[in-house]
Order: sequence, then structure tokens, then C-alpha cells
Amino acid sequence: MMTGRFTALLLLLSLIAACKPTPPSVGAASSGTSGKPSVYVVNYPLRYYAERIGGDLIDVHFPAPADEDPAFWTPSDEVVSALQQASVILMNGATYSKWADKVTLPTAKVVDTSASFASSYIVTKSDVTHSHGPGGDHSHSGTAFTTWIDFTQAISQAKAVHGALVKLLPVSATGLDANLAKLSEELRVLDERLKTLGQRMKGEPVVASHPVYQYFARRYGINLQAVLWEPETVPDEKAMADLQAILAKHAAKWMIWEGDPAAESVAKLQAIGVQSLVFSPSGNVPEKGDFMSVMQANVAALEKAFP
Ligand SMILES: [Zn+2]
Repeated sequence: MMTGRFTALLLLLSLIAACKPTPPSVGAASSGTSGKPSVYVVNYPLRYYAERIGGDLIDVHFPAPADEDPAFWTPSDEVVSALQQASVILMNGATYSKWADKVTLPTAKVVDTSASFASSYIVTKSDVTHSHGPGGDHSHSGTAFTTWIDFTQAISQAKAVHGALVKLLPVSATGLDANLAKLSEELRVLDERLKTLGQRMKGEPVVASHPVYQYFARRYGINLQAVLWEPETVPDEKAMADLQAILAKHAAKWMIWEGDPAAESVAKLQAIGVQSLVFSPSGNVPEKGDFMSVMQANVAALEKAFP
């Protein structure tokens, strides 16, 4: 009896040992533990497109931290090795990920989602450097990279994401096509609304808190000049003087902010006859809602300001 029980216990113990998970093999499958293709993205708009188009068929990874501008983020060595194992790496293009030149990525897996409109990138000349967040000093000179707030460019980028996913999942092409069509239509409606708004504004001057609206201004005919402010920083005397210098020749009544401005900033602007509204490019994950709801709120804020 005792022996029988002992044998049973031994058997049980050996079974438990056999069930111990095996460590993941290094340098193996690109598909991760789920068996789904692993899709790495460098900003939130691309994450959103990949999720809308690929849905449950893919694992989307957006490795930039929530409190950093992904445009000025540099991946750690761990992230770089994860990228090397990815099924596909979706880049924004337009010099968005400057770190990409300094690391070795599997070229065949890298997709530049803005390549189709590379000939119409906007190049700016300004060498003022500044910093926001932990990314250190940076400059906005060179190629403008906030490509997706021209919604025709956003559609092109979504198409590039779709193309990459169809290559990974050819048997699912029909579903991927349908998801792209739905997303493109929503982006097209935003484009239509902004085109109408741009016509209504008739070149009325506006100011922006940061130089990230180049493609938006070009596509929708918005007469826009930018300062180098941050939503969470209240403009000091120097900053207000910079703005006043712009306003002397560019009599804007509205400032477009990248994020919710501090109440004190709003009051300071109001005192000189400038109202505030938010148009968030949403390069990173929004606190509330998703890419589409943020863009809809952006467009609605502009429509309200310029009825
Ligand atoms: Zn900046």
C-alpha cells in the first residue's frame, strides 16, 4: 500500500517536472509565443493602423515609453534585439526614427510607410535646438516628420501597413482589404472636413505651439507659424516676446496646441487676444480614446473655432 502510494507520488513529481516550461530559444522564431506575426511599430499612428487592419491576426508591439515623444526616442539594446526578431518593422519614414541609422536592422523586414510620398517631404531650415521630456535636446530642422496629419498621407501610410500585413498573411488578404477600406474611408472623411475648413479660413493667420504642423498646413491651406512652446510650460517673458514678434506680422487670433495647455498659458494668451485650441498629433498613445477619436476631436475643435 505504502509502496504503491510512494510510486504514485514519484510519478506525479516527474510529471510536474516534465510540465516545467522550457525557456524560449534564443534567436529562433520571429512570431513570438502566440504564433502570430510580431509587428513592431515606431509610433502610435502606425500601431493604430496595424491594429485596425491586422486585428487579432497579429501581435503589435510599440516599444517607445508612454511619456516620451517617439520621434526623439532611442531604443535600448534589448528593444533592438527584439526588432531583429520581428516579422516586420513598420517605420514612419521622413527621418522620424533617427536612431535607425545607428543600429543594424534586418533590411528585408523594414517597411518605410511614407516611401510612396517621399518626393513631397517638407524640409525646414531652422537650427534652434530645444528639449521636451527625457529625450534631450533636439532640433526640428531638416525633414518634417508629422506626416499623418495630412490625412491623404495617413491613408498612404495605412496602405503601406496593409501591404506589409498581406505579405505576412496572404490567406487573410480579403479581411485585411476590408479593414483597410473601412479605415481609409474614416481618414478620408477627416481629410474632407479639413479641406472644407481650410477653404473657410481663407488664409486667416494662426499660430502653433510647436513646429509639427507642416504637412497639415500645406494640405489644408492653413496660414500657420509656430513657436517652440510646450503645453505644460507656461510661457515666460521671452516666450511671450517671441510670440508678439510673430503676431506683429501674422495677426493670429488662435493658437493650436499639441496637448492641453496649462490654464495660466491660456490666460496669458487670452490677455493679448489669442484663443487656445488643441490639435494633438498623437504620436504617442493618448490618455483617452484612440487615434480616430483624438483626430475627430482635433477636427471638431478647429471647426468650432472657425465656424
Ligand atoms: Zn520639439
